[in-house]
Amino acid sequence: MIYLDHAATSPALPEVFASMEPFYKERFGNASSAHAMGRQAREAVENARKEVAALIGALPSEIVFTSGGTESDNQALFGAFHHAMEVTGRFCLITTAFEHEAVLETAHALEGLGAEVMVLLPDSEGYISSEQVWNALGAARSRGYLKEELLVSVMFANNELGTIQPVREIGEMCRKAGILFHTDAVQAVGHVPLDVNALSVDLLSASAHKFGGPQGVGFLYVRQGTGLSPFLYGGGQENGLRSGTYNTPGIVGMGVAAKCSRERLSEQKKVSELRDGFRAGILQEIPDVHVNGPVCASDERPLLPGHLNVRFDGVESSSLLLMLDSKGICASGGSACAAMKEEPSHVLRSIGLSEEEADSSVRFTFGLENTKEETDEALRILKDCVETLRKLRFG
Ligand code: PLP
Repeated sequence: MIYLDHAATSPALPEVFASMEPFYKERFGNASSAHAMGRQAREAVENARKEVAALIGALPSEIVFTSGGTESDNQALFGAFHHAMEVTGRFCLITTAFEHEAVLETAHALEGLGAEVMVLLPDSEGYISSEQVWNALGAARSRGYLKEELLVSVMFANNELGTIQPVREIGEMCRKAGILFHTDAVQAVGHVPLDVNALSVDLLSASAHKFGGPQGVGFLYVRQGTGLSPFLYGGGQENGLRSGTYNTPGIVGMGVAAKCSRERLSEQKKVSELRDGFRAGILQEIPDVHVNGPVCASDERPLLPGHLNVRFDGVESSSLLLMLDSKGICASGGSACAAMKEEPSHVLRSIGLSEEEADSSVRFTFGLENTKEETDEALRILKDCVETLRKLRFG
């Protein structure tokens, strides 16, 4: 099996799994219990909080543990919405057309509850500009929205294209204007250096399974002093912002994954080299292929290290993915959630691709454990598969 779908999920690091095991066995206490078993678990949760905070330059008290990226996004958007509605009764969200479903569907739900949602379109390479956000803020202010009624949510990096957005510029702009800024950094945390203060973000979503941690756990960074209402009510954990028994093994695993990612950040260069080599091979050896997004990363058009999205003219991605799968290669047509919906990728449509073009695109995402031998083998198989499918279709 050659696994080239790290954006969907990445394998848990061995040290992550080892750190979690005792918390399913002899150290199984509830981290909210007052007795010794509970206190032990609580200590482990607080240590993990410090590691996670260190990964993004936050204070430990600004980390709220969640069940993953989806919940973090929901908490950020619903939390800001409910807070604004309680204070002034109005809310406007400015976001983009190529956010993950966890943001887009939440935005849709908020619209149903009376929020106004403004959606910005990325350019043909998959980038939003800070000017677009500025203009949208101007339009919202001219419609009478007060700054405390506005939330800007722009993803740090797109999950299908890997394009890194000008988050620092947007953050600084929002900070100066006194407007709340959320970024979905699920694909970026642990893969690129990221500091919440340098970026001026108020809310940031992340998910452990995208950076070598376990599935089903994540966190939301909430800048000190940010007005946010809870999304889950109950026992009052996480200072009342996120009730529910702590997922202690998951949180501990995420803490170890955060530490490893921070220490191994420089190794991401190896991942981008593998990706670049694979891309060069495709462009050289397979005709009628196009890269979705910029062909190469540059300072103006930065990319995550492991993402590559390619379009093969005349090939249906669903057939190609099935054929690759039958030969032991895991890749995807878009996000794992989009695969379930079987619709053309909204991300690729948003950058101007036709339905047919979107349906002939495949996402390959690389990780630290991939090797050059694997990418060479994957390239050979990919070339064969594309040739076979084109022959079947065109003779
Ligand atoms: N946001 C982005 C950009 C993602 O890529 C994903 C998952 O692929 C999510 C949110 C959802 O995260 P989770 O799977 O942890 O719910």
